[in-house]
Amino acid sequence: MSSLVIEGLRAAVDGQEILSGVDLEVRSGEVHAVMGPNGSGKSTLSHVLAGRPGYEVLAGSVRIDDQELLGLPTWKRAEAGLFLAMQYPTEVPGVSLRDLLTASVRTSSNPDEVAELMRAEAERIGFGARFLERPLNVDLSGGEKKRNETLQLGVLRPAFAVLDELDSGLDVDALRMVSRRVEEATEEGGLGVLAITHYSRLFDELRPDVVHVFADGRIQETGGPNLARELEDTGYERWVKAPAPATASKGLPDDPFADPLA
Ligand code: ADP
Ligand code: MG
Repeated sequence: MSSLVIEGLRAAVDGQEILSGVDLEVRSGEVHAVMGPNGSGKSTLSHVLAGRPGYEVLAGSVRIDDQELLGLPTWKRAEAGLFLAMQYPTEVPGVSLRDLLTASVRTSSNPDEVAELMRAEAERIGFGARFLERPLNVDLSGGEKKRNETLQLGVLRPAFAVLDELDSGLDVDALRMVSRRVEEATEEGGLGVLAITHYSRLFDELRPDVVHVFADGRIQETGGPNLARELEDTGYERWVKAPAPATASKGLPDDPFADPLA
């Protein structure tokens, strides 16, 4: 049994504080949903956890068991057991999914074993074998990229996975297969999941134990599985502050098609 523990995490981008005190504990086999409006800092949280450059950590701690992750390079966080499925997976021309996974899997030095595992994982989520040889994410549709991320999760078998809008871009059938695959990983391998999304449809197959409402850079409320459906009905209005007039006037015009000279 392991724990991913986030304590008092504050982080800034471009001098602006985006995460303003995140506390969260995910244990092996648990699924925590993080739901919140656009721009609330959900992807920032996922990037700060994974150690993406460009984010300034102001305070706090992120640990897997006794190991502090903040300050470690991304590959060491991965080695410690953390996996991130990105909202917008990066395209890597010249590197195939097979190359990536063969280089990443340390438990097996046999490329044939990795290839077999990849084939089996691809089949579980209805992902064509041709994608294994294509350059990573290049010219893939949104849904194909998300299946690509899920396949990596299946092969790498991390202890904890942060899934940033894994459901976006997936059609109904693909969503069912992908979310079922993640659910099975929680049951078979004790994967702990932090699933970031707007929609409760991800949770038809992937069963959350805990649902957090994330707004304004922090967790505002925590509840049981029913909170996910409630949020989809009611929206996030009650947790969102009205924009300050100064910010609003600096933003886009109300009607982007309006004649600027009128
Ligand atoms: P969410 O995933 O909840 O929609 P994000 O974490 O992507 O929100 O963004 C939160 C806020 O941080 C937004 O206002 C966004 O513009 C800002 N932000 C995130 N990353 C950067 C960045 N690299 N540079 C500047 N601003 C950023
Ligand atoms: Mg996001």
